[in-house]
Amino acid sequence: MTSAGITISDLTVGYGGPPVLDGVSLQVRPGGTLAVLGPSGSGKTTLLRALAGFVRPATGRIEIGDKLLTDGQVLVAPERRGVGYVRQDGALFPHLDVTGNILFGLTRSERRRATQVGPLLELVGLSPDLAKRRPDELSGGQQQRVALARALAREPAVVLLDEPFSSLDTALRAATREATLTALRERGATTVLVTHDQAEALSFADQVAVMLNGRFAQIGSPEEVYDAPVTAEVGAFLGDIMLLPGCADGRIVDCVLGKLDLAEPSTGEVLVMVRPEQLTLGTPSGLTARVVSAAYHGPDAMLRLDLTDTATRLVARVPGHNAPHPGDLVGIAVPGPVRSFPKPGLLRPQHAADENPQA
Ligand code: ADP
Repeated sequence: MTSAGITISDLTVGYGGPPVLDGVSLQVRPGGTLAVLGPSGSGKTTLLRALAGFVRPATGRIEIGDKLLTDGQVLVAPERRGVGYVRQDGALFPHLDVTGNILFGLTRSERRRATQVGPLLELVGLSPDLAKRRPDELSGGQQQRVALARALAREPAVVLLDEPFSSLDTALRAATREATLTALRERGATTVLVTHDQAEALSFADQVAVMLNGRFAQIGSPEEVYDAPVTAEVGAFLGDIMLLPGCADGRIVDCVLGKLDLAEPSTGEVLVMVRPEQLTLGTPSGLTARVVSAAYHGPDAMLRLDLTDTATRLVARVPGHNAPHPGDLVGIAVPGPVRSFPKPGLLRPQHAADENPQA
């Protein structure tokens, strides 16, 4: 199978009311993995449905490789797109066995290519012995792998995964995700995964697109979107953050946690973003805080702390072993660089002036 990239330009999709996708653009390299991450209702599934051809976009273009799928005039039918779709529930036919499910709906030539169901099952990490089982004789994780094998049987250039791991329990989810990623890489399929699970998006994909309200707020590598979010909203969506008022002067910002290094220079009043794992705790000296509560999770613990002599509540993620206890006094440091955002209040006059130049 040849890999093909995806190019989406200025895509707008609605269901009769206001647009659900509002002019989104995106590129996925051939063989790349993109995770579309966003809260429920932000338009993630609609993007997949537009890619698969289940919904007609109002405007915009979608191309896979050099094949135009839609541009307002053209609308290529779903079965002619070279796209495989794996849904949240796997959607296997209960009355067919694994082989029947994998071969269902294939054309004669696709069927000839895929008659080797055994290797397809091995590709997704399943034993070929399962070929004669029915879906109700499989675990949830096995069903999802069969659904993936069915999508791969057509040798699609692009595979779309719509929250395919969300119904699985934690251990099974990680194993199924791993097997899926291995199979997709082996086939060189370009993959778009839709998820609302931050950890899943960050670990699965080489590119993460954060969707908020029908638009991409940021597209970047997992490290970029987590460490260098473009807004506090994106930062907060990807994980816990503290936002502390501060005053920036170039590479240094002065805030309640002292003078911290800035990853990007800034000036004036800002909000400093600190993630809980950026705080390190030590013996009380300099900055001190009292532990208010500790939630133990095994490998790590989340602490709530009150910074001494201020009304500042902090959150720290620390290793679980020897984590401090409620009531303990600890020293606080922020060793690495932090990010900052312009203070929202300071932006408002600028926006107001933009919207109403006469004002
Ligand atoms: P997500 O996958 O991020 O949860 P969806 O793409 O499913 O978001 O939905 C985005 C918005 O579009 C929601 O407000 C949803 O109610 C609306 N929507 C989705 N499908 C339809 C449909 N078939 N008809 C009308 N509105 C829809």
